[in-house]
Amino acid sequence: MRRKLVVGNWKMNGSRTSNAVLLSEIVAGLAASGAASAVCVPAPYLAQCQAQLAGSPLGWGAQDVSAHASGAYTGEISAAMLQDFGCCYVVIGHSERRAYHGESDAQVAAKTVAALAAGITPIVCIGETLAQREAGQTDAVAAQQLGAVLAAISADDVAKLVLAYEPVWAIGTGKTATPQMAQDVHQVLRGQLAAKNAVAAAGVQILYGGSMKPENAKELMAMPDIDGGLIGGAALKAADFLAIIHAAD
Ligand code: PEP
Repeated sequence: MRRKLVVGNWKMNGSRTSNAVLLSEIVAGLAASGAASAVCVPAPYLAQCQAQLAGSPLGWGAQDVSAHASGAYTGEISAAMLQDFGCCYVVIGHSERRAYHGESDAQVAAKTVAALAAGITPIVCIGETLAQREAGQTDAVAAQQLGAVLAAISADDVAKLVLAYEPVWAIGTGKTATPQMAQDVHQVLRGQLAAKNAVAAAGVQILYGGSMKPENAKELMAMPDIDGGLIGGAALKAADFLAIIHAAD
């Protein structure tokens, strides 16, 4: 049985003052949750998470990582630096990075390799645009995006991945995939993982992301291959984020 995982993606939001309140409200409401949970915050706030969340059940992580180890890459943040701040997770290949920063499947794969080498769990985002879905390309896009990552890692490392299926048309739009639509893609993704390592694939957490909220979280996470959520907007309100975490119990 896979443990559910609910991760908040704060995107480019927050301040030291508002973060302190949000983190303490989340931690206070986590008691007895059966699901694992974490927040992925803007890089300047990793130190704040490390200080405030030490010893708490709420994990933390980053929203991107460099594919490079160190050196002349101005503005980049290495996996070793994230590790230095106690990150358990890093979101890789979010559709906003693919769309606004031109991240390719090859870069997503290289970043995944870098995270794994530093012992940080990559949350690899995969998802189709509305045009791709309407053209019947959903499974092919998923296969291509995940295929690039699987080609870059060993069969043993499959067990160390977390995937997030995030249909681009559902992110921040209020439109959610139906549980069955999401389940269908999750099943395809698990099948692709299984072709590389069948035993590991059964244990990989595949999260759904895209306008998940307290009202729809339970039915989405009731599907057999939906193992939690990657939450954007609803992760910025403690009550909503906690309701989603508790829907995963
Ligand atoms: C996301 O940014 O990963 C996301 C799923 O956003 P939202 O929940 O706001 O759609």
